[in-house]
Amino acid sequence: MRLSVVKSDKLKKHPDESDLTFGTIFTDYMFNMDYNLKDKWHNPRIEPYQPISMDPSTMVLHYGQSIFEGLKAFKTKTDAINLFRPKDNFKRFNRSARALCIPEIDEDFALSALKQLLIIEKKWIPKYPGTSLYIRPTIIATDPYLGVRASNTYRFFIILSPVAAYYPEGFNPVKIFVTKDYVRAVRGGLGEAKTSGNYAASLYAGDLANKMGYTQVLWLDGVELKYIEEVGSMNIFFVINNDIVTPALSGSILSGITRDSVIKLAKKWGVNIVERKISIDELFDLHKSGSLTEAFGTGTAAVISPVGVIKYKDSIINVGDGKSGKFASKFYKFIMDLQYGNVPDNMGWIETV
Ligand SMILES: *Cc1c(COP(=O)(O)O)cnc(C)c1O
Repeated sequence: MRLSVVKSDKLKKHPDESDLTFGTIFTDYMFNMDYNLKDKWHNPRIEPYQPISMDPSTMVLHYGQSIFEGLKAFKTKTDAINLFRPKDNFKRFNRSARALCIPEIDEDFALSALKQLLIIEKKWIPKYPGTSLYIRPTIIATDPYLGVRASNTYRFFIILSPVAAYYPEGFNPVKIFVTKDYVRAVRGGLGEAKTSGNYAASLYAGDLANKMGYTQVLWLDGVELKYIEEVGSMNIFFVINNDIVTPALSGSILSGITRDSVIKLAKKWGVNIVERKISIDELFDLHKSGSLTEAFGTGTAAVISPVGVIKYKDSIINVGDGKSGKFASKFYKFIMDLQYGNVPDNMGWIETV
């Protein structure tokens, strides 16, 4: 398949790299590709970033058939472009596609198209410490039709956004709220897919948590409201008697690439890592007995996010001493150093564009 490039004659002004936020500024170009039953995936093109015009009856607007990915491009000291495990993102993209009856894409082709887009947009990858270019591949259902079924047409696009360092004021622990009233996903549902509806389902409880002064919601399983699943857009880890424990993938937890990286690094470093069911009651008991020394979340946006306070029902526990724990700091530094090319990639996780 040939990727065409439509040049833009008017380029945008670049933002001040020390003053970036998250997800507000987009680059000059985007990747687009379409699907229909006859041609399958076709017409891959890089063209100027532009609005998508659609009929008000377009299926994605009504029934939420949409999937996305999130990864980053990093600029190294030598001006190379690094991607972190991008093949895993496109593999997961196809797993999400299957879960939502969206036709799968050619993963290798998608990655090569992304690389071409990044080469064109190289100047948009910021170099200011901790910044990066966030990459958002998305597929939406585009049939103009109000009947309920899977769409017969789709748009696959990739947009790019220069983003700030996640921790401009330091690597500080966050406060999380365990909701006993709402669930994000259930086994057999879409929790394992990166799809818009999971986020829609998380907003109400997230809002309640924010109003009470908590940054994120820690979700319990959707069946028994007992076992810990994940936090907001992050997977969760605990350090218990010097073992690292994370909820086993249950069918309703998103399989994070950062989660998998932490598990693989822990194994490599000889740390005991356990994927298992862990209930919220057990966690609070472990805290009471002094066994719980650290908690942290993992995800592309923040890499590692130390957790300092957990509230469940009427109990609030403080984990650690108000600063990031030693495991969280070690994983954070190691993964960031790999991503920015500051250390040799002995894990085989970096793809240079
Ligand atoms: C994307 C995402 C994560 C983190 O996955 P990474 O691949 O590590 O970025 C965790 N939970 C949810 C719900 C997500 O959407």
